[in-house]
Amino acid sequence: MGFISDSINRIQPSPTIAISSKARQLKAAGRDIISLSAGEPDFDTPENIKEAAIRAIEAGKSKYTDVDGIPELKAAIVTKFARDNGLDYKTTQVSVGTGGKQVIYNALMTTLNPGDEVVLAAPCWVSYADIVLLADAKPVFAETRPEDGYKLRPEVLEKAITPKTKWFIFNSPSNPTGAAYSKEHIKTITDVLVRHKQVWVLSDDIYEHLIFDGFSFATPAAVEPRLFERTLTMNGLSKAYCMTGWRIGYAAGPEPLIKAMRKLQSQSTSNPCSITQWAAVEALNGPQDFIAQNNAMFVDRRDLVVSMLNQSNGLQCPQPSGAFYVYPSCAGAIGKKSASGIMIANDEDFATALLEEEGVAVVHGAAFAGSPAFRVSYATSKEHLEEACRRIQRFCANLS
Ligand code: GLU
Repeated sequence: MGFISDSINRIQPSPTIAISSKARQLKAAGRDIISLSAGEPDFDTPENIKEAAIRAIEAGKSKYTDVDGIPELKAAIVTKFARDNGLDYKTTQVSVGTGGKQVIYNALMTTLNPGDEVVLAAPCWVSYADIVLLADAKPVFAETRPEDGYKLRPEVLEKAITPKTKWFIFNSPSNPTGAAYSKEHIKTITDVLVRHKQVWVLSDDIYEHLIFDGFSFATPAAVEPRLFERTLTMNGLSKAYCMTGWRIGYAAGPEPLIKAMRKLQSQSTSNPCSITQWAAVEALNGPQDFIAQNNAMFVDRRDLVVSMLNQSNGLQCPQPSGAFYVYPSCAGAIGKKSASGIMIANDEDFATALLEEEGVAVVHGAAFAGSPAFRVSYATSKEHLEEACRRIQRFCANLS
C-alpha cells in the first residue's frame, strides 16, 4: 500500500493496547474473560487529585497553556526531583507531555538520525523499539536472563554499545519484568556508560514508587553525577497516582534537548490537557501516603500470583521487587499441544490458546523481545487473580 509511509509500515500497533482492547471487546460480547494484560492500576484516582481537577474546571482553566507545561507544574516537578531523587533541575530543564509515552517519543524523535542505535535491556516495554524504528534508527537488544531476575549485566551492555549508539534506555522497576535495580547494580551499569561519551541515557522511572520488600529506588543521574549532563530522567503520573487515562508524563534533562522536545510538541499536540496539569500539581504536592497503602495490596497480589504460577506445569516465575508485573518463562510449555489441539510453538501461541480456552488475557513475551515468556499484570483484585491463576494451572496441566 504505497500511500502509507515507509516509517509507519516499519512499526506495529502497540501489542499491550491491542490485547487489552481485545479482552475488553470479548468481555463486552459476553465472554467470561479475566484480563491480566493492561498495565494500569485498578485503583481509582485519589479524591484530592480529582477535586483539584474539578476546581480547575470551575475556575475556567480551560485555555491553551505553555506547550510543555504550566509554571506551577514545572515547579512541582523540580521539587519532586529534589525531594525524591536528590536531583537538582531548573524549571527550564523540565518538559511535560501527554503521558510518558509522548515524552519518550519527543526525546527519541528529536535526537535520532537514520542509522543511529538505541540499546534496550530486553525484555523491555513494547513502545521503545517501535519509536526507534519510526525514527529510522535501530533498536539493539541487550538481553537479560530470568536467572538474574531479568537485570542487565554490565558486560552485556558493554558488548551492545557501538560508536553509533546514541541512547541507552534504562527502566527500573521494569515493564514487563518488574525487575528493580539497586543503587549498587546501577553503578555497575553507569560505570560502562561513563566510558562511552556518545551515549545518552533515557531513564524511564515511571514505576519509581511501586517498590516492595523494603527496596530502595535509585536513578542513574543521581547514582552517577558524571552522567547528569547526558541523561533525560523521565517519569509520569499514570502508575503510582492511578491516573492512566488522564495522560501526564514529564522529564528533566539538558536544556537544548528540552527545547527541541518543546519544538516538536508545539507542532504536534501542543500542551497536555490544562485540567490534568492542575490535577498533576496536586498529585505531586499533595499527600503521598496512599501509595504505600496501594503497595501493600500489590505485594499481597504479587505473592499470590508468583506462588500459583510456580505451581503450574512448565512455568517458572521469578519474584520481582517492583512494578505490578511478573514475567514467567513458559519454556516448559513450548512444543506441546493444548487441550483443544492448538500447537504451542511459541509464547504468542501460548497466550492465544490461553485466551481462547480459558478466557485469560496475558501479553506474550515476543511483544517485549523476551521469549518464551509472558507478562502478567497483577493490578486487579485477588479474587480475579486467584481464578485466573487457577485457569492458567488447568491450561498448563492439560498440555500434552
Ligand atoms: N504501559 C502500559 C502497558 O505496558 C500501558 C499500555 C502501553 O502504553 O503500552 O501495558
